[in-house]
Amino acid sequence: MPSLPKWINDTVENVWSSKFKDCTVTHTESVTDDLRLIRFAADLQEVHFEPAYAIGIRINERDFRNYSPFNFNKKKGTFDVVFHLHDTTAAGNSFVTRLSTGDSIKILMPRGKRFFDPTAAIHFSIGDETSLGSSLSIKEMAEETKASFICLHELENPSALETLSLYGYHAPKNNTIDIIEALTDFLKEEKQAIYNNKVTFYLTGSGNTLSQVRQFLKAKGVSPRCIRTQAYWIEGRKGL
Ligand SMILES: Cc1cc2nc3c(=O)[nH]c(=O)nc-3n(C[C@H](O)[C@H](O)[C@H](O)COP(=O)(O)OP(=O)(O)OC[C@H]3O[C@@H](n4cnc5c(N)ncnc54)[C@H](O)[C@@H]3O)c2cc1C
Repeated sequence: MPSLPKWINDTVENVWSSKFKDCTVTHTESVTDDLRLIRFAADLQEVHFEPAYAIGIRINERDFRNYSPFNFNKKKGTFDVVFHLHDTTAAGNSFVTRLSTGDSIKILMPRGKRFFDPTAAIHFSIGDETSLGSSLSIKEMAEETKASFICLHELENPSALETLSLYGYHAPKNNTIDIIEALTDFLKEEKQAIYNNKVTFYLTGSGNTLSQVRQFLKAKGVSPRCIRTQAYWIEGRKGL
């Protein structure tokens, strides 16, 4: 989201007040050294949610940042977010590390383009630390619709996958070759399902990795309509 003058952001919050909810931090937890899970409570009765929708958090007067809620529970009025603590000097990163239990913040409720493909038999989510929340919400929906779910994350510390009950494949950071190798095996095993357009790939996280993986999948014959992409961050760009 672009950096805007304070008065514009104030106006957006006022004019769009129905899209914002007062949220309370009810729980914080370190998943690993660079991943923080935070649970928020709010009145979610009227809020529409779909997998990979994003909330907007105003992290200072001029800027909002997008994050992916999961465990979105309208009845209990709670949702969770996993924050990647990538750089303590970055505005969003430093804002979220200061959040603690009992804090109240106004959050722009989940919105976004429709990402989840209800016709897929296999849902394959590929990303990095920033994609863990969207992978979890895709996994929840896949399980509800009795479809299969697989994921592959580029991670500094893969123990996060077990802690978050995501499991799946993992690859070291900045090593697209490992991702391509894991995908090559998968494409061989699921040749028929790929041919029948029964596998949908969700590519999120680093814009650079995502575009290489997308190119690879297309070159291997995966239909473009079975590849959903959304860059979550791009080297040198602030707050997508
Ligand atoms: C739809 C959507 C959903 C998202 N969901 C999540 C989520 O659930 N959890 C989450 O942690 N993030 C998520 N993100 C990504 C998050 O919004 C960005 O990482 C954002 O840039 C963080 O803001 P910042 O102020 O900390 O860093 P910025 O000030 O925006 O970035 C400063 C610099 O840091 C680098 N950078 C930014 N993010 C990262 C990163 N994660 N790893 C390495 N380098 C980085 C870039 O080079 C950038 O120029 C999502 C983004 C989108 C668009």
